[in-house]
Amino acid sequence: MNVYFENITLTTDTSTYKTNLHIIDGIIVHNSSDISPKKNENTKIIDGTTLTCLPGLFDMHVHFREPGQEYKETIETGCNSAANGGFTGVLCMPNTAPSIDHPAVVEYINSKAKGNIVDVYSSAAITVKREGSTLTPMRQLHDAGVLMFTDDGSCLMDSQLMRNAYDYASDFDGLLSQHCEDHQLTKNFAMNEGAVSEKLGLKGYPTVAEEIIIARDIQLANFCGNRRYHVSHMSTKGGVHLVSDAKARGQRITCEVTPHHFVLTDSSIEQYGTNAKMNPPLRTEEHRLALIEGICNGTVDCIATDHAPHASHEKVVDFSSGANGITGLETSFALSYTTFVSSGLISLSKLVSLMSTNPRSILQLPSISFEVGSSANVTIVDTNIEWEIDSKKHLSKSLNTPFDGFKVFGKPMFTINNSQMYTCNL
Ligand SMILES: [Zn+2]
Repeated sequence: MNVYFENITLTTDTSTYKTNLHIIDGIIVHNSSDISPKKNENTKIIDGTTLTCLPGLFDMHVHFREPGQEYKETIETGCNSAANGGFTGVLCMPNTAPSIDHPAVVEYINSKAKGNIVDVYSSAAITVKREGSTLTPMRQLHDAGVLMFTDDGSCLMDSQLMRNAYDYASDFDGLLSQHCEDHQLTKNFAMNEGAVSEKLGLKGYPTVAEEIIIARDIQLANFCGNRRYHVSHMSTKGGVHLVSDAKARGQRITCEVTPHHFVLTDSSIEQYGTNAKMNPPLRTEEHRLALIEGICNGTVDCIATDHAPHASHEKVVDFSSGANGITGLETSFALSYTTFVSSGLISLSKLVSLMSTNPRSILQLPSISFEVGSSANVTIVDTNIEWEIDSKKHLSKSLNTPFDGFKVFGKPMFTINNSQMYTCNL
């Protein structure tokens, strides 16, 4: 690799400037408005006039389905999808089969991801088999490289066990996270509880089911000595307020929101069917706007996709029996850029913090540097292009997205990491 981006805009979470960026064998050898002295006939020159270079995007909530459900996605296809969407790093959720509740599973995932352009990190379950009854060997999992603990897909309902998990993780200041759902309030749900569920005669999932768990976990995190806690895929206005209040009190609480929760509402299911079915479900406009406000005012720390591939036989069924979740890696940047930056709600720098800097910082990963001599970990986008999402071009093994045909702005063009360069094809 010997690539030279001439006259490119470089945007980080704190600055934006024009530069010439020269990368050789994965190392940044030049980053300045002068001409690179190392440029020669072997250098591939790319006109950067319409391009913007960002620190590599990071998605801290993906389901790569391996081990156990390789018919939906594998680590390889998941990484292909991530690189195509402009992501250089992901955090896998532990609801695999077997679940990530033992260091051997972490090692298996690491072996599958070795040498990939995308850095693949693991979260691990809080409880064995995510069954909510016995804690996993959290310390060993932490030592094996696990960055976060969650029973994602299930919520740990037992308050005593959650308290024990906070205490146990305090030894190494571990990060706990929850899929916040009081399962007793959501039995057999198909969608958000409200006017649309009533109209369609579908079983509802009330917003309070999410808020109850967020509130309890925030209280426990404080009670156990200001422990680190992250709310996964937050979908409610009440959740935004709970997190905002906890932050104001000085608690170490963070949260993420998915693109589908800030783009769609529960009315969307009439149009998109099971491709708009997920957990937590799409909410009403009131909640969608509260999430957007939370992103704009800094309450929400990051955008994460909850990339959840499912085979068509799990989605082409009646709404109530459809599997929960949609793919997200190849649509996330554009949906986020279109909703927030094109519309003028936030700057591109702020989007960089939501999609790169903040998730890395929550997971205590090193920050990405553009200093000469650093390894290049970058996403190059074209913010001037309006384009149409086409799931036929997606590299995920599954095609369950409601966003096919959406007109969006901001297109990932190149993903560079681990001495590899990938040309996105979206
Ligand atoms: Zn979840």
